[in-house]
Amino acid sequence: MSRFMSPRFAGLEAYTPGEQPRDQQYVKLNTNESPYPPSTEVLERVSKAEVELLNLYPDPTGKVLKEKLAALYGVEAKNVFLSNGSDDILNFAFMAFCDAERGAAFPEISYGFYPVYGDLYHVDCKKIPLKEDFGVDYLDYCGIGRMVVIANPNAPTGMEISLAEIEEILKTNPDNIVVIDEAYVDFGGTSCVDFIKKYDNLLVVQTFSKSRSMAGARLGFAIANEAIIEDLEKIKYSTNPYNINRLTLAAGEAAVDSNAYYVETAKKIAQTREMTTSKLREMGFTVLDSVANFIFAKSNALSGKVIYEELKKKGVLVRYFGKAKIEDFVRITIGTPEQMNVLFEKLAEILQEQKGA
Ligand code: PMP
Repeated sequence: MSRFMSPRFAGLEAYTPGEQPRDQQYVKLNTNESPYPPSTEVLERVSKAEVELLNLYPDPTGKVLKEKLAALYGVEAKNVFLSNGSDDILNFAFMAFCDAERGAAFPEISYGFYPVYGDLYHVDCKKIPLKEDFGVDYLDYCGIGRMVVIANPNAPTGMEISLAEIEEILKTNPDNIVVIDEAYVDFGGTSCVDFIKKYDNLLVVQTFSKSRSMAGARLGFAIANEAIIEDLEKIKYSTNPYNINRLTLAAGEAAVDSNAYYVETAKKIAQTREMTTSKLREMGFTVLDSVANFIFAKSNALSGKVIYEELKKKGVLVRYFGKAKIEDFVRITIGTPEQMNVLFEKLAEILQEQKGA
């Protein structure tokens, strides 16, 4: 820290993203990207003609994309917010709706960025333990009187809570925002977007990074009551109105136009997840029941750290958190069936080698 940095950030521990190595080609199963490319419509839209327009600022309102998303989700454009990845929206939510008096609550085991945003804004965060089976107990959040943030499905477990449970959380916290982070909902989860018509305290956050194969483009969106969207717009226009670049906007529009392609690839990924879960269970792993594009798995013979390190040596990257309560687990992104076969092969080798060691 330089002597110029404000002391208010002295204790801040920044988020550590998953590795994005450039040193060699890995079978990359560590940051929940889609293994499938964007649709042909997206490839065509991000054309030379679009690049030639880079001298001009993009539309800061994202009008066309908002209208397309609104039509897709059965809401109005005024209920849609766009930003530079869903991380950006989560950041705005903590900035807008929390402060020294207004705390937040989220599961102790969940997306690692929530506590970082909490610390960034000096928000009192209640980190609520998961149940024994790694599920979120919705009752813990009923009437909690803080901003609630729940990833549904949760990360890194891949497990979800029901719409009825979310509705109870919404009903019992009428004066607090309930953020449901649906980054992984398209792989078999159930979206609560329709509740925005009934509850003015719901903020649903989604992303183009996972099911829409656009992690590199940085595009996220949120759906909520108009007043919440206006709050988020106020923050966006007070920081960086042009935070979605022209190429990403164009790609996003084409992605919504070709939604059927993404429904299809999400289905393929869900099938590969089921195949991977059965295979790993046969190989002696405990695998949580995931509805996301990743699984959380624990070897009954080797530690999570060994699995992670040995797989990396063999060219397969998975995510290891090394955190209390989940230190035995690794999170494995679902890739193509071919990539998963490489994973099975390398895991079998590792189990064999370590047995002999
Ligand atoms: N929410 C969850 C639960 C995530 O795992 C991620 C991806 N790391 C994000 C939000 C952020 O995704 P992005 O900023 O790429 O939209």
